[in-house]
Order: sequence, then C-alpha cells, then structure tokens
Amino acid sequence: MSEKSPKLRAELDGIPTYKPGKPAASGGAVAYKLSSNENPYPPLPGVLETAVAAAGSFNRYPDMACTGLVAELAERFGVPVEHIATGTGSVGVAQSLIQSTAGPGDEVIYAWRSFEAYPIITQISGATSVRVPLTDGDVHDLDAMAEAITERTRLIFVCNPNNPTGTAVRRAELERFLDRVPSDVLVVLDEAYKEFVRDPEVPDGIELYRDRPNVAVLRTFSKAYGLAGLRVGFAVAHEPVAAALRKTAVPFGVSQLAQDAAVASLRAEDELLGRVGSLVCERTRVYEGLVAQGWTVPDTQANFVWMRLGERTADFAAACEKAGVVVRPFPGEGLRVTIGETEANDLFLHTAEAFFKEL
Ligand SMILES: *Cc1c(COP(=O)(O)O)cnc(C)c1O
Repeated sequence: MSEKSPKLRAELDGIPTYKPGKPAASGGAVAYKLSSNENPYPPLPGVLETAVAAAGSFNRYPDMACTGLVAELAERFGVPVEHIATGTGSVGVAQSLIQSTAGPGDEVIYAWRSFEAYPIITQISGATSVRVPLTDGDVHDLDAMAEAITERTRLIFVCNPNNPTGTAVRRAELERFLDRVPSDVLVVLDEAYKEFVRDPEVPDGIELYRDRPNVAVLRTFSKAYGLAGLRVGFAVAHEPVAAALRKTAVPFGVSQLAQDAAVASLRAEDELLGRVGSLVCERTRVYEGLVAQGWTVPDTQANFVWMRLGERTADFAAACEKAGVVVRPFPGEGLRVTIGETEANDLFLHTAEAFFKEL
C-alpha cells in the first residue's frame, strides 16, 4: 500500500486562505457584524417572496443561461445580451476572467492593498501576481500600474471604489490609464460598490467599456442589492471576452432562486436604492464623526471606511469587539469597518472616540 498522498498542483502551495469576515458573536451582548461589507437590511418583502416561490422547484436545474436575468440587465444598461455573463458572485466571474486569460508564465496586475480574492484566484490559475502599492493617500497608483505592464501581462484589475480603502479613481485619470494599456491586455473594472458612489467624477465603467473592447466591468448583487448569500454577479464585456466567460463558468452555478431574486431586486430598485441612500447618509455621518474625533480617514465612496492604524490595528479591533462590533482588521496595516445599522455605527463611533483619546 502506498503512503503517498494524492498529488496536488504546486501552485496551490502558499495560497492565502480566504478569511471571511468574522461573524458577530452569538449570545450575551448585542453584537453587530461590520466585517464583510454586507447590506444590513433584511431582504425586501417582494424579493423574499419571489425567492421563496423559486425554492419550490429546486429539484430542477436552474436556467443555465440565466435568460431572464440577462435580458433584464441588458435592457437596464443598454447593452447587447451577448455582452453579459453571469456567475456565482462577481468573484466567480473574476475567477473565470483569469481562467480565460492567464496561466503559468503570465502576469496579473492589481493594486495592493486591494480585494483579497485577487491574489488567491491569480495563484490558482498559476499566473504571477504583480502588486502595485497604493499611493500615500491609499488610492490606486494608475501611472505605476501602467508602468508595470510587460509582454506577459494578461489582465489588470482596477477596483473602483477600492476594497478595503473605499477610495475611487476619477474619470480623467482612468481614461488616461486605459489609453496607455495595450489593446490585447484585459482591464477589469471591479465595481462591486458602484451604487454607493456619490462623487460625480467617478466614472461608470459601463460607459467606459462601450468603445473599449479590452475593458470588462464586474458588478454584483451582493452589496447594495443585499443578496450576498445567494451568489450572483455579472460582467459586462465585449465578445469574445463575454463568450469566454460563458465557457469557463461553473455550469448551473447561479441557482434559480438567485436568478429570480436578482430580477425581483432590479424591479424593486427604487426601494433598494432608497436603502442605499440611507447607508450613504450613515457613511457621511461615520466619516465626519471620525474626522471630528481627530482621525485621518481617506474619502470613501463605498459602504465602509478605512482606518490606517498600523501596529495599533489589532488593539483597536479588540476594543471594537469588546464593545459589540466586529470589524475587519488587516494586522499591522489597518482596519475596514462596514457601514451598518445606526446603532452599530454609534457603537463603533463611541469606541473610536475612546480609543483615540488613549493614543
Ligand atoms: C464584495 C466584493 C465583490 C463581490 O463579491 P461576490 O462574489 O459578488 O459576493 C467583488 N469585488 C469586490 C472588490 C468586493 O469587495
């Protein structure tokens, strides 16, 4: 009998394991989860009923082509149905984008720090990550990213607004960057937080993609739309990129429940975007509260704030947890705090104030 274990691809060695946002503590004190950028509102009644109705037929496979959802999205954004590809969350679509473009010997460029899934899905593909540090203001350094392009570059992520810093790049600088990228390198504009953007200078990626065949836009139903648990996201991209995404997607990955709930959410958009508006007001309140306390916080266009706390990160995260709010620390660097329920934001602000006074 052999003692050897199954051979696994060497590329998997050293892959950082995804660290999900810590759950809110159960039992005892009230605890709020401000660690995963989720929408704190429960599902809208109409959306919940649609999902429950769809659950009645989960003995069947879903519509593999997501026909209804794709038609609805195409109409909404004024793009051909062929330009839309759906997936199991936009992370699923991002993984298909890498699988479609990059393998061993190829390079994938992204800012750092940025979304934690980028290094993982790049490494799984066998491609090499090229991380370009954010500027001192925690913004994408697009000039440095353009300079990092080589013969081997296949894909570049631009996370706009950036997770975890909340900062966004503006139209003029993004267009200048896109003009510098060779036409055979795919630029992926990850707009998971698009609906929270209020800076009019921050462009809509779907406008930028129209006359640029090497630009793909990623959107998700997980954040503003509040469907994180249902796993549905999509890309808007020209052929042949969109076609490649359909080839590489997990077959039947998006459940009928998710497809129907996504369509219902689009139809309930007024109500949903009203909730987003309330979260944006809370974001302003939290941001201004922190600034008034003396903190330096980068301008945020997303549903979270970033605090660059360096070595104090772990202590502050522990203080928050003790107060009943679970936040997302990146030890030694900083801490991301999702905008949640008013009471949760209050608890966080009080904790921040007390912590600042002790610095
Ligand atoms: C949350 C997030 C996503 C979306 O994840 P889903 O897989 O759609 O739930 C994508 N990109 C970024 C930057 C995110 O923060």
